[in-house]
Amino acid sequence: MAIQRPKGTQDLLPGVVEKWQYLEEQIRKICREYGYEEIRTPMFEATELFQRGVGETTDIVNKEMYTFLDKGDRSMTLRPEGTASVCRAYVENKLYGGPQPVKLYYTGPMFRYERPQSGRFRQFHQFGVEVLGADKPIVDAEVITLVWDLYNRLGLKGLEVHVNSVGCPTCRAEHKIKLQEFLAPRREHLCKDCQERYEKNPLRILDCKNPTCQELTQGAPTTLDTLCEDCGQHFKELQELLSAAEVVYKVDPRLVRGLDYYRKTAFEVLVEDIGAQSAICGGGRYDGLVQEVGGPQTPGIGFAMGIERVLAALNLSGGAPDVETKDYLMLVALGERAQSEGFAIVSRLRKKGLPVSIDLLGRSLKAQLKAADRTKANYAAILGQEELEKGIIILRNLTLGEQEEIALKDLEEYVMRKYREDVKA
Ligand code: ATP
Ligand code: MG
Repeated sequence: MAIQRPKGTQDLLPGVVEKWQYLEEQIRKICREYGYEEIRTPMFEATELFQRGVGETTDIVNKEMYTFLDKGDRSMTLRPEGTASVCRAYVENKLYGGPQPVKLYYTGPMFRYERPQSGRFRQFHQFGVEVLGADKPIVDAEVITLVWDLYNRLGLKGLEVHVNSVGCPTCRAEHKIKLQEFLAPRREHLCKDCQERYEKNPLRILDCKNPTCQELTQGAPTTLDTLCEDCGQHFKELQELLSAAEVVYKVDPRLVRGLDYYRKTAFEVLVEDIGAQSAICGGGRYDGLVQEVGGPQTPGIGFAMGIERVLAALNLSGGAPDVETKDYLMLVALGERAQSEGFAIVSRLRKKGLPVSIDLLGRSLKAQLKAADRTKANYAAILGQEELEKGIIILRNLTLGEQEEIALKDLEEYVMRKYREDVKA
């Protein structure tokens, strides 16, 4: 039996991978423009990092981690998300000692043991941004604006930006009591997970996808009802700044992010029509996290977006521009001597930066010309035994169907000149 790829993973083949490259280029470009620098952290970390940094009561830690013992009996976990690793790196490399804030971004694969569905994979990819060492609402606004700007540059349609404030430990404690009071009479009807959340982290009940739980929490007190003065002011300023940047957003008091370390701002971007998994970006402020992973008290905010879902949204909004791998010249060599002479020519042209191919299968003239057609080459240069002896080569313009004989020694200069003219035009 042939071996198959693991469930919930994908092979990204030519034809699709170009869309990924396009999106990655747009991401790198906007990060450069906004002054964010790339960080690359390991694909696996000590399990404890995620237990502490993501939180024991989250689905990620409870159900979704790829955890294994390495040969030294250490518990390791394939990273399910990027924020905890970035905070660990910030502490471990003492980035808090340099100029603040530290504005970072990352892209790469994440791993979660989930039930695979459309838009939900076990290996998926995220682009994320983290700003460490700044606590003002303008930071939150900058980060949300970056997402908004990126999605608009990509031409995504049907975007909805939802923002909320989940408060701080002080105001959340008050909310927790009110929420538990509200839920007490409905408690036994909640789903099994939410029954557990009731004691530990009732806020997350608002986030439950179960329709019964959603029904039961209609009209429940929200964190906005109990925001303390500081959190309330922060949220108000954030909204003013978003409006100033012309970000279209909605306050969504039911938006609570699944992670324990969030404070104040939480946000999500949804997009219509990509199916049930419509969240293409989630983020928020996590002023408690750096300390949680052993560093000094440091404010932080960031987001992560799912590349697969952004690409799905992009496809529905007209798609990434087509990029094709295209030769300028196909060197058609017939016979052994022509092949080695042709290979020498092609190698010199490649050094000069010309997109050029040579047949690798020893095919017939007809088959080689057909291949030239497939790669949409502008020219075919045909070199056989006879041409070699005469010191010439036949240059066929494949667009016009015309051909001419030129001296073999002049070929490279001639083709490079044409190429430069065509690239300019
Ligand atoms: P969901 O509610 O869809 O499970 P989440 O809250 O677990 O999302 P985050 O941890 O906030 O997601 O991750 C940020 C983004 O990463 C999501 O908005 C989504 O676009 C993407 N994402 C998360 N899990 C997956 C997955 N298993 N497959 C593909 N994309 C994912
Ligand atoms: Mg999830």
